[in-house]
Amino acid sequence: MELPLIARTRPQSGVRKMMELAWGRADVVHLEVGEPGFDTPDHVVAAADKVARDGKTKYSPTPGLPELREAAAAKIRAVNGIDCQASQVLVTNGGANALFGVFGTVLGTGDSILLPNPGWSNFTMMTKAFGARPLYYDLKDGNDYLPDIDQLDALVDGSTRALLLNSPSNPLGTVMDRKQAEELFAFAEKHDLWIISDECYDQIDFSGRHVSIGSLEPSPERVISVFSFSKVYAMTGWRVGYAALPEQVVNPMLGLLQPSVMCVNTPAQYGALAALEGPQEYLASWREGYRRNRDLVLKRIAGSRYSAMSPDGGFYVWLNVSDFGETSEAFALRLLEQCNVAVTPGTAFGTNGEGYVRLSLATTNEQLELGLERLLQA
Ligand code: PLP
Repeated sequence: MELPLIARTRPQSGVRKMMELAWGRADVVHLEVGEPGFDTPDHVVAAADKVARDGKTKYSPTPGLPELREAAAAKIRAVNGIDCQASQVLVTNGGANALFGVFGTVLGTGDSILLPNPGWSNFTMMTKAFGARPLYYDLKDGNDYLPDIDQLDALVDGSTRALLLNSPSNPLGTVMDRKQAEELFAFAEKHDLWIISDECYDQIDFSGRHVSIGSLEPSPERVISVFSFSKVYAMTGWRVGYAALPEQVVNPMLGLLQPSVMCVNTPAQYGALAALEGPQEYLASWREGYRRNRDLVLKRIAGSRYSAMSPDGGFYVWLNVSDFGETSEAFALRLLEQCNVAVTPGTAFGTNGEGYVRLSLATTNEQLELGLERLLQA
């Protein structure tokens, strides 16, 4: 039986490919993973455990538990400075599901969307899932890895519906400040584009400069902001994320969530509620740990054949390995084979990733030390 072209030509995630190779080996230092090494905090686990034992194991409303939507809206107002009511929040199966729903809502077949290169490979996968076309904008060394408005202007055509922004960025660790946000907002306004702002790493910002672009609008009509519990609260396997949406987008997006997921795991939503309502101090101490790991990497590679800019947020270092004269994939495979260190080849994030690998800071200090020692022998 023949499958339709759209299904046969769907790309796979380059990030997961490397993870699967590394999982099959012993004694590997895992610097390829995109998730915190910490366990989910106890009070979150206890809250989910309690509701499950109390029998709250049934379906919940598709938009999310009302109390979680309230708490998420309060967080979005307080932390992100976005004017947002609970009715504009949808709770989703991680940030990935929120983004998938948003892409499917604003993009039609034949439309195009501006995506970062390098950027998270799932953005391309989502675009293609809906029969839309990616238009890649460059994030390069020469431009401090920031979007160039002239290039964006040149890329836009009559089919372009949206601009995807990701700050703090995976894989770069760059953080968008107010001036850049204002320029990008003006650009989107000029071309009448949706702005999809992926802020799944919003509270992992060492610079204190991160600006949620949705906060620039008095009541957001153009900006859709996506957040997640995964990275910030060390809850990747719980699968809870949330989006702040202009009112007109809420029902059309529910039309995608209802048939695909029905609702998010009910006990996990109570866990997420506990994460928002409980203490927040440990977030700062985790952030400090990532920053220390960042500084350790930069110190250890100084004077070696590797180089890297200093990331302002997220938990990755975008390591330049071009001095080795191999493709980034060949380098990453050799590193795994010879030194038992797993990293992600830069090309898993787009063509501009050639010459780079992504190294994760979200591991213990000891593992990072060991990984760096092996890396320096490569
Ligand atoms: N956005 C970016 C840039 C990511 O790196 C990830 C995960 O790797 C996500 C969104 C989605 O994460 P989750 O679905 O676990 O919230």
